[in-house]
Amino acid sequence: MALATPTSQKPGRSHRWAPVTTRASGETLSLAIHTLHGAQPGPTLGLFSTSHGDEAFTVQVIKAVLDRVDPAKLRGTIRALPVGNPVAFESFTRSTGQGMNTDKTNLNRVFPGKSTGWLTEQIAHVISEEFVPGLDALIDFHCGNSETAINYVLLENDPSEVGRKSVELSKLCGSDLLYTAPTPEQTGTLTQYAKSLGIPSVIAQWGGNVTNPAAYVDRCFVGIRNVLIHLGMLEGQIVLPPQQTMLSGARTLLAPRHGGLFVPELGFDRLCDTVPAGTVLGRVYSPHTFELLEELTAPYDQTVVIMLRGTLSRVNPGDYAYILCNGATAEPIVNGK
Ligand SMILES: [Zn+2]
Repeated sequence: MALATPTSQKPGRSHRWAPVTTRASGETLSLAIHTLHGAQPGPTLGLFSTSHGDEAFTVQVIKAVLDRVDPAKLRGTIRALPVGNPVAFESFTRSTGQGMNTDKTNLNRVFPGKSTGWLTEQIAHVISEEFVPGLDALIDFHCGNSETAINYVLLENDPSEVGRKSVELSKLCGSDLLYTAPTPEQTGTLTQYAKSLGIPSVIAQWGGNVTNPAAYVDRCFVGIRNVLIHLGMLEGQIVLPPQQTMLSGARTLLAPRHGGLFVPELGFDRLCDTVPAGTVLGRVYSPHTFELLEELTAPYDQTVVIMLRGTLSRVNPGDYAYILCNGATAEPIVNGK
């Protein structure tokens, strides 16, 4: 792999606070960057979470990795930033501090940021300057919030060498479902910035309000361990499910057009299920008049539910409700025993 960590490092775990700015309250806004130094030199793997402030589940995944990997057996370094946007986390909102006196911007659209920019751009700048440099690979975690759950790895159709390596690492994460977007759907994401620097990057969309959180974290850990083994950072056997499924083509981000009371037909146990076209997934009622405002239905003959809103909740117009893929595009990835 490319960059080796210095041979003089001491094995062990530590963290530091990277300052961003002074808030009007007088507090210093800082980002906690963790380091797990291995006993021997080797590559550096970056783990990043919570660029969207309402995505808390994957903080636990990062904690599990730092708790479970023994630095004495590690070659190289794990560098982790569990809360990428602390201001959004504070308000538990996707963007920076909705309802607070900030710029309300989506951190994962402004990389590499700007030191003299809006608050969110300043956060991105510090991540770009202090977290990203020197990484040999990156996993950017996203997840559902308290009302949603998600389970797939998102790939970008990128024929370059760094794109090919990103696909390789993404498969090793061991998700049952992967989805390749036909064209990059966003700009200014952390992984796009990292890839522009030649750093292979994974977008792991893992968890949220899942039915068995502890077992789910265990599965995530197995996938990250696979990546560590592949990078030569740990000894061991790569463990993959017998078969994974690659989805492609267009996908549907199904969001309610109306706000109101959201009543799901599919609970969280139906995550990753395939349902026929026309299946009612959930309904939005007016909680004031009880009028049915809309029904959200499956669009494809084989609709694969890769993200869902599985609990009764208040929804606003345009909130995430479902991400749906076309099962007709499914291609099996068969892994050897
Ligand atoms: Zn996200």
